[in-house]
Amino acid sequence: MPPMRTLVLGAAAGGGFPQWNCGCPNCVGVREGRHDLVARTQDAIAATADGARFVLVNTSPDVLTQIQRAKALWPRGPRHTPISAIILTNGDMDHVLGLFSLRESQPLALYATRPVLAGLEQSAFIRTMRRFEGQLVARELAVDTDVALADAAGEPLGITARAFATPGKLPVHFVGHAEPSPDDAIGVSLSEPGGASLAYATACASLEGLDLSAHAAVLFDGTFYREDELVRLGLSKAHAKDMAHMPISGPSGSLAQLASLGARKVYTHINNTNPILAASEERRAVEAAGWEIAYDGMEIVT
Ligand SMILES: [Zn+2]
Repeated sequence: MPPMRTLVLGAAAGGGFPQWNCGCPNCVGVREGRHDLVARTQDAIAATADGARFVLVNTSPDVLTQIQRAKALWPRGPRHTPISAIILTNGDMDHVLGLFSLRESQPLALYATRPVLAGLEQSAFIRTMRRFEGQLVARELAVDTDVALADAAGEPLGITARAFATPGKLPVHFVGHAEPSPDDAIGVSLSEPGGASLAYATACASLEGLDLSAHAAVLFDGTFYREDELVRLGLSKAHAKDMAHMPISGPSGSLAQLASLGARKVYTHINNTNPILAASEERRAVEAAGWEIAYDGMEIVT
Protein backbone atom coordinates (compact mmCIF):
# COMPACT_ATOMS: atom_id res chain seq x y z
CA MET A 1 0.00 0.00 0.00
CA PRO A 2 1.60 3.31 -1.02
CA PRO A 3 1.49 5.98 1.70
CA MET A 4 -1.24 8.61 1.74
CA ARG A 5 -0.16 11.91 0.20
CA THR A 6 -1.62 15.24 1.26
CA LEU A 7 -1.11 18.44 -0.68
CA VAL A 8 -1.59 21.79 1.01
CA LEU A 9 -3.54 23.71 -1.63
CA GLY A 10 -3.96 26.84 0.46
CA ALA A 11 -2.29 27.73 3.76
CA ALA A 12 -3.89 31.12 4.45
CA ALA A 13 -6.90 31.86 6.61
CA GLY A 14 -10.04 33.46 5.17
CA GLY A 15 -9.15 36.50 3.10
CA GLY A 16 -5.91 34.95 1.83
CA PHE A 17 -2.48 36.50 1.79
CA PRO A 18 -2.46 39.27 0.76
CA GLN A 19 -6.08 40.08 1.59
CA TRP A 20 -7.69 42.40 -0.96
CA ASN A 21 -8.67 45.09 1.54
CA CYS A 22 -5.78 44.81 3.99
CA GLY A 23 -2.91 47.22 4.41
CA CYS A 24 -1.20 45.49 7.33
CA PRO A 25 2.63 45.30 7.18
CA ASN A 26 2.59 41.70 5.88
CA CYS A 27 0.02 42.40 3.13
CA VAL A 28 1.84 45.58 2.04
CA GLY A 29 5.15 43.70 2.02
CA VAL A 30 3.96 40.71 0.00
CA ARG A 31 2.33 43.01 -2.59
CA GLU A 32 5.63 44.82 -2.94
CA GLY A 33 7.55 41.56 -3.35
CA ARG A 34 9.45 41.62 -0.05
CA HIS A 35 11.86 38.66 -0.21
CA ASP A 36 10.79 36.93 3.01
CA LEU A 37 7.05 36.91 2.27
CA VAL A 38 5.21 34.35 0.11
CA ALA A 39 1.57 34.78 -0.97
CA ARG A 40 -0.85 32.06 0.07
CA THR A 41 -4.37 31.11 -0.99
CA GLN A 42 -7.18 30.20 1.38
CA ASP A 43 -7.33 27.07 3.51
CA ALA A 44 -7.65 23.72 1.70
CA ILE A 45 -5.86 20.39 1.39
CA ALA A 46 -6.19 17.45 -1.01
CA ALA A 47 -5.36 13.88 0.04
CA THR A 48 -4.94 10.75 -2.04
CA ALA A 49 -4.32 7.07 -1.40
CA ASP A 50 -3.77 5.99 -5.01
CA GLY A 51 -2.44 9.18 -6.62
CA ALA A 52 -5.40 9.21 -9.00
CA ARG A 53 -8.38 10.18 -6.87
CA PHE A 54 -8.36 12.94 -4.28
CA VAL A 55 -10.49 14.10 -1.41
CA LEU A 56 -10.52 17.85 -1.07
CA VAL A 57 -10.92 19.26 2.42
CA ASN A 58 -12.62 22.64 2.02
CA THR A 59 -13.42 24.45 -1.20
CA SER A 60 -12.11 27.98 -0.88
CA PRO A 61 -12.92 30.88 -3.19
CA ASP A 62 -9.41 30.20 -4.59
CA VAL A 63 -10.21 26.61 -5.61
CA LEU A 64 -9.87 27.17 -9.37
CA THR A 65 -6.42 28.74 -8.93
CA GLN A 66 -5.45 25.91 -6.56
CA ILE A 67 -6.45 23.26 -9.13
CA GLN A 68 -4.59 25.10 -11.87
CA ARG A 69 -1.41 25.11 -9.75
CA ALA A 70 -1.58 21.43 -8.71
CA LYS A 71 -0.88 19.20 -11.70
CA ALA A 72 -2.15 16.16 -9.79
CA LEU A 73 -5.62 17.75 -9.88
CA TRP A 74 -5.74 18.31 -13.63
CA PRO A 75 -8.27 16.36 -15.76
CA ARG A 76 -7.01 13.10 -17.28
CA GLY A 77 -9.70 12.84 -19.90
CA PRO A 78 -12.06 14.96 -22.02
CA ARG A 79 -14.46 15.40 -19.05
CA HIS A 80 -12.73 14.31 -15.88
CA THR A 81 -11.43 15.45 -12.50
CA PRO A 82 -9.22 13.64 -9.96
CA ILE A 83 -11.33 15.39 -7.26
CA SER A 84 -13.67 12.60 -6.20
CA ALA A 85 -14.96 13.80 -2.85
CA ILE A 86 -15.11 16.97 -0.79
CA ILE A 87 -15.17 17.40 2.98
CA LEU A 88 -16.28 20.68 4.54
CA THR A 89 -14.95 21.40 8.04
CA ASN A 90 -17.56 24.08 8.67
CA GLY A 91 -19.97 26.31 6.78
CA ASP A 92 -17.74 29.38 6.59
CA MET A 93 -17.75 31.20 3.26
CA ASP A 94 -14.00 30.71 2.88
CA HIS A 95 -14.59 26.93 2.89
CA VAL A 96 -17.84 26.74 0.94
CA LEU A 97 -17.78 29.38 -1.79
CA GLY A 98 -15.49 27.33 -4.05
CA LEU A 99 -18.04 24.53 -4.15
CA PHE A 100 -20.15 26.62 -6.51
CA SER A 101 -17.17 26.99 -8.85
CA LEU A 102 -16.99 23.19 -9.17
CA ARG A 103 -20.25 22.81 -11.09
CA GLU A 104 -20.05 22.21 -14.89
CA SER A 105 -22.18 19.08 -14.41
CA GLN A 106 -19.46 17.19 -12.54
CA PRO A 107 -20.69 14.48 -10.13
CA LEU A 108 -19.17 15.05 -6.67
CA ALA A 109 -19.53 13.47 -3.26
CA LEU A 110 -19.83 15.96 -0.43
CA TYR A 111 -19.21 15.08 3.21
CA ALA A 112 -20.14 17.41 6.07
CA THR A 113 -21.85 17.34 9.44
CA ARG A 114 -25.61 17.62 9.64
CA PRO A 115 -25.74 21.34 10.60
CA VAL A 116 -23.32 22.26 7.79
CA LEU A 117 -25.38 20.29 5.24
CA ALA A 118 -28.56 21.90 6.59
CA GLY A 119 -27.01 25.34 6.17
CA LEU A 120 -26.07 24.60 2.56
CA GLU A 121 -29.61 23.49 1.81
CA GLN A 122 -30.80 26.99 2.71
CA SER A 123 -28.77 28.49 -0.12
CA ALA A 124 -30.39 28.96 -3.51
CA PHE A 125 -26.93 28.49 -5.06
CA ILE A 126 -27.01 24.80 -4.13
CA ARG A 127 -29.40 24.32 -7.08
CA THR A 128 -26.54 24.91 -9.48
CA MET A 129 -25.02 21.68 -8.10
CA ARG A 130 -28.30 19.80 -8.57
CA ARG A 131 -28.89 20.06 -12.29
CA PHE A 132 -29.33 16.30 -12.52
CA GLU A 133 -29.82 13.38 -10.16
CA GLY A 134 -26.51 12.35 -8.60
CA GLN A 135 -24.57 15.54 -9.43
CA LEU A 136 -23.96 16.42 -5.79
CA VAL A 137 -24.21 13.42 -3.52
CA ALA A 138 -24.31 14.73 0.06
CA ARG A 139 -23.33 12.33 2.83
CA GLU A 140 -23.30 12.98 6.54
CA LEU A 141 -19.97 13.01 8.31
CA ALA A 142 -20.97 12.15 11.86
CA VAL A 143 -18.37 13.02 14.48
CA ASP A 144 -16.28 10.30 16.14
CA THR A 145 -17.28 7.83 13.44
CA ASP A 146 -15.04 6.21 10.84
CA VAL A 147 -16.36 6.92 7.35
CA ALA A 148 -14.88 5.13 4.32
CA LEU A 149 -14.86 7.88 1.70
CA ALA A 150 -16.30 7.11 -1.73
CA ASP A 151 -16.86 9.05 -4.93
CA ALA A 152 -20.31 10.11 -6.15
CA ALA A 153 -20.87 6.69 -7.73
CA GLY A 154 -19.97 4.94 -4.47
CA GLU A 155 -16.49 3.73 -5.49
CA PRO A 156 -14.27 3.68 -2.36
CA LEU A 157 -11.26 6.03 -2.36
CA GLY A 158 -9.14 4.01 0.08
CA ILE A 159 -9.25 6.78 2.68
CA THR A 160 -11.09 6.76 5.98
CA ALA A 161 -12.22 10.05 7.50
CA ARG A 162 -13.00 10.53 11.16
CA ALA A 163 -14.42 13.90 12.13
CA PHE A 164 -13.96 15.32 15.60
CA ALA A 165 -15.78 18.31 17.00
CA THR A 166 -13.59 21.36 17.57
CA PRO A 167 -14.77 24.18 19.79
CA GLY A 168 -15.91 26.67 17.17
CA LYS A 169 -18.75 28.95 16.25
CA LEU A 170 -21.51 29.38 13.72
CA PRO A 171 -20.60 30.86 10.34
CA VAL A 172 -21.09 34.65 10.45
CA HIS A 173 -24.08 34.47 8.07
CA PHE A 174 -25.91 32.08 10.42
CA VAL A 175 -25.37 33.89 13.72
CA GLY A 176 -28.87 34.68 14.96
CA HIS A 177 -30.39 32.49 12.20
CA ALA A 178 -29.48 29.01 13.43
CA GLU A 179 -28.98 27.28 16.77
CA PRO A 180 -25.29 26.68 17.56
CA SER A 181 -24.35 23.00 17.59
CA PRO A 182 -21.18 21.15 18.68
CA ASP A 183 -20.93 19.89 15.07
CA ASP A 184 -20.74 23.37 13.51
CA ALA A 185 -16.96 23.07 13.20
CA ILE A 186 -14.92 19.91 12.95
CA GLY A 187 -11.41 18.76 12.52
CA VAL A 188 -10.86 15.65 10.47
CA SER A 189 -8.48 12.75 10.66
CA LEU A 190 -7.60 11.09 7.34
CA SER A 191 -5.89 7.74 6.91
CA GLU A 192 -5.65 4.69 4.76
CA PRO A 193 -7.13 1.60 6.45
CA GLY A 194 -4.56 0.56 9.04
CA GLY A 195 -2.22 3.41 8.00
CA ALA A 196 -0.91 6.44 9.83
CA SER A 197 -3.29 9.37 10.11
CA LEU A 198 -3.13 13.06 9.40
CA ALA A 199 -5.25 15.45 11.44
CA TYR A 200 -6.53 18.70 9.98
CA ALA A 201 -7.92 21.17 12.53
CA THR A 202 -7.87 24.77 11.40
CA ALA A 203 -10.62 26.37 13.45
CA CYS A 204 -10.04 25.41 17.03
CA ALA A 205 -10.94 27.67 19.95
CA SER A 206 -9.36 25.37 22.54
CA LEU A 207 -7.92 21.91 22.99
CA GLU A 208 -10.47 20.99 25.63
CA GLY A 209 -11.58 17.41 25.05
CA LEU A 210 -9.27 17.01 22.06
CA ASP A 211 -6.56 14.37 21.90
CA LEU A 212 -4.33 14.77 18.86
CA SER A 213 -1.67 12.33 20.05
CA ALA A 214 -2.57 9.42 17.75
CA HIS A 215 -1.62 11.17 14.51
CA ALA A 216 1.55 11.02 12.45
CA ALA A 217 0.99 14.59 11.24
CA VAL A 218 -1.10 17.42 12.64
CA LEU A 219 -2.02 20.46 10.57
CA PHE A 220 -3.25 22.90 13.15
CA ASP A 221 -4.89 26.29 13.52
CA GLY A 222 -2.13 28.85 12.97
CA THR A 223 -4.51 31.75 12.38
CA PHE A 224 -3.13 34.18 14.95
CA TYR A 225 0.16 34.41 16.79
CA ARG A 226 -1.28 36.60 19.52
CA GLU A 227 -4.66 36.69 21.21
CA ASP A 228 -4.90 40.46 20.51
CA GLU A 229 -3.17 40.47 17.11
CA LEU A 230 -5.92 42.32 15.20
CA VAL A 231 -6.50 44.77 18.04
CA ARG A 232 -2.78 45.68 18.25
CA LEU A 233 -2.66 46.36 14.52
CA GLY A 234 -5.76 48.53 14.78
CA LEU A 235 -7.64 46.29 12.31
CA SER A 236 -10.47 45.05 14.50
CA LYS A 237 -11.83 44.95 18.02
CA ALA A 238 -12.00 41.15 17.85
CA HIS A 239 -9.66 38.89 19.79
CA ALA A 240 -8.64 35.43 18.58
CA LYS A 241 -11.11 33.75 20.95
CA ASP A 242 -13.98 35.86 19.59
CA MET A 243 -13.25 34.26 16.22
CA ALA A 244 -12.98 30.73 17.68
CA HIS A 245 -9.24 30.43 17.21
CA MET A 246 -6.64 29.70 19.87
CA PRO A 247 -3.51 31.81 19.39
CA ILE A 248 -0.07 30.26 18.89
CA SER A 249 1.64 32.13 21.73
CA GLY A 250 0.90 32.55 25.42
CA PRO A 251 0.31 30.06 28.23
CA SER A 252 -2.98 28.88 26.71
CA GLY A 253 -1.65 29.03 23.15
CA SER A 254 -1.06 26.02 20.93
CA LEU A 255 2.73 26.26 21.09
CA ALA A 256 2.64 25.60 24.85
CA GLN A 257 -0.36 23.31 24.84
CA LEU A 258 0.93 21.01 22.09
CA ALA A 259 4.59 21.08 23.16
CA SER A 260 4.68 17.37 23.92
CA LEU A 261 2.92 16.24 20.76
CA GLY A 262 5.14 13.72 18.96
CA ALA A 263 3.59 14.18 15.50
CA ARG A 264 4.93 16.17 12.56
CA LYS A 265 3.45 19.56 13.49
CA VAL A 266 2.45 22.11 10.88
CA TYR A 267 0.73 25.46 11.34
CA THR A 268 -1.72 26.31 8.58
CA HIS A 269 -4.81 28.53 8.08
CA ILE A 270 -2.43 31.41 8.77
CA ASN A 271 -3.98 34.86 8.89
CA ASN A 272 -2.23 37.53 6.83
CA THR A 273 -1.46 39.50 10.01
CA ASN A 274 0.48 36.62 11.59
CA PRO A 275 4.18 37.49 12.11
CA ILE A 276 5.23 33.86 11.39
CA LEU A 277 4.65 34.65 7.70
CA ALA A 278 7.71 36.94 7.79
CA ALA A 279 11.34 36.41 8.77
CA SER A 280 10.63 37.28 12.41
CA GLU A 281 11.39 36.43 16.00
CA GLU A 282 7.98 34.77 16.13
CA ARG A 283 8.77 32.51 13.16
CA ARG A 284 12.06 31.50 14.78
CA ALA A 285 10.27 30.67 18.04
CA VAL A 286 7.78 28.44 16.23
CA GLU A 287 10.45 26.66 14.20
CA ALA A 288 12.68 26.20 17.25
CA ALA A 289 9.75 24.42 18.91
CA GLY A 290 9.65 21.92 16.03
CA TRP A 291 6.75 23.36 14.06
CA GLU A 292 6.66 23.83 10.30
CA ILE A 293 4.81 26.64 8.60
CA ALA A 294 2.57 25.50 5.76
CA TYR A 295 2.77 27.01 2.29
CA ASP A 296 0.79 26.40 -0.89
CA GLY A 297 2.25 23.34 -2.60
CA MET A 298 3.59 21.68 0.56
CA GLU A 299 3.28 17.90 0.44
CA ILE A 300 2.95 15.64 3.47
CA VAL A 301 3.38 11.88 3.23
CA THR A 302 1.98 9.76 6.03
ZN1 LIG B 1 -3.08 41.94 6.08
